[in-house]
Amino acid sequence: MRGGRVARAAVMTGYFEPFLVGPMRMRDPAAGEVLVRTAAAPFCSTDWMGWKAMRRTIPPVVLGHTAVGTVEAVGDGVTRLSPGDRVLVAGTPQCRECYYCRVGRPDQCELLMGGLPYPIVAELPDGREVRAAGLVGAYASQLLAYEHQVHRLPDGLPFDTACLLGCGISSAVGAVENIARVEPGQSVAILGLGHLGLWAVQGARLAGAGEIIGVDGHGGRRALAASMGATNLLDPTAGDPVEAVRALTGGRGADVVIEAAGPEIATRQAVLMARRAGTVVLMGVAHSTSEVVLPQLAMTTQGKAIHGCQNGRVTPDVDFPRWIGYLQDGLLDPAPFITRRYDLSEADEALRRSMSLDDVTGVFALG
Ligand SMILES: [Zn+2]
Ligand SMILES: [Zn+2]
Repeated sequence: MRGGRVARAAVMTGYFEPFLVGPMRMRDPAAGEVLVRTAAAPFCSTDWMGWKAMRRTIPPVVLGHTAVGTVEAVGDGVTRLSPGDRVLVAGTPQCRECYYCRVGRPDQCELLMGGLPYPIVAELPDGREVRAAGLVGAYASQLLAYEHQVHRLPDGLPFDTACLLGCGISSAVGAVENIARVEPGQSVAILGLGHLGLWAVQGARLAGAGEIIGVDGHGGRRALAASMGATNLLDPTAGDPVEAVRALTGGRGADVVIEAAGPEIATRQAVLMARRAGTVVLMGVAHSTSEVVLPQLAMTTQGKAIHGCQNGRVTPDVDFPRWIGYLQDGLLDPAPFITRRYDLSEADEALRRSMSLDDVTGVFALG
């Protein structure tokens, strides 16, 4: 492996093991790659799922699938970016060449979806090679990414706010705008009020939804959703949320349902609580091997549109500038999401507070 830059990283060396915080030697950027000095990265539930062997994450690996920072060096052929640029590193590339990019679905770009195992980006002092989760590997002072994942940020947008664009905002506001295409006056039910569900609440409010029904067993999260514009809050442990949503929507069910909770039962409830010919967007994953049972007759005859959601069906070129504008114009409020800032040495604590739901989004603030 060629490369002389030394980064500081929180490396996952094994499932259920504390992070190894220390130096790793970065590979030099290959053709089409960009080396970024990381400024901020959000801790995401995807990461503790990887840590718990619930996804196909192979250690040693640097977790963290999106970040912001400053371009440090570029590989051959990179012309769009140069050292010193402030950038967003998104987990979803847009190579423009694969089948999915050519048919207008860069959310399924082969670089990401066909990209397992993730690329080797660094080496530990003992010689073990380190991979980058989600093609990013954000929990390190430097990271390597494809040019297609890296987008320039405007001056003046703070790094710790901008780092929320690549996962929470893209997934959930993308679910509202790109997939459900919520229209003014529609009823929107949102299952799960973690960072994705809460961003979906803000997105639905922005889209002019009539009712925004938030469903979560965590009282604090329901209160946050109310402060962001949810009009009704339901505790799914206190009664059947499907019946409760129907009762709030003239007996029909919601026009749009966004599932951002994770458990298999939430996926089933999301589909059932949509009205006939309604729209369902599925974001949550309990485990990489989970399956869901649905009533066949109703699924066939009720004409519901059920969509999967990979990073909000993002088209990076088109969507990131719009969402950056929302942040600049104050249309999205990031403040309630950033519940704590961490140094890399506190990675174990960031993991613990994400799993215990003490954080909405913990942010590694590195510079
Ligand atoms: Zn994420
Ligand atoms: Zn592609």
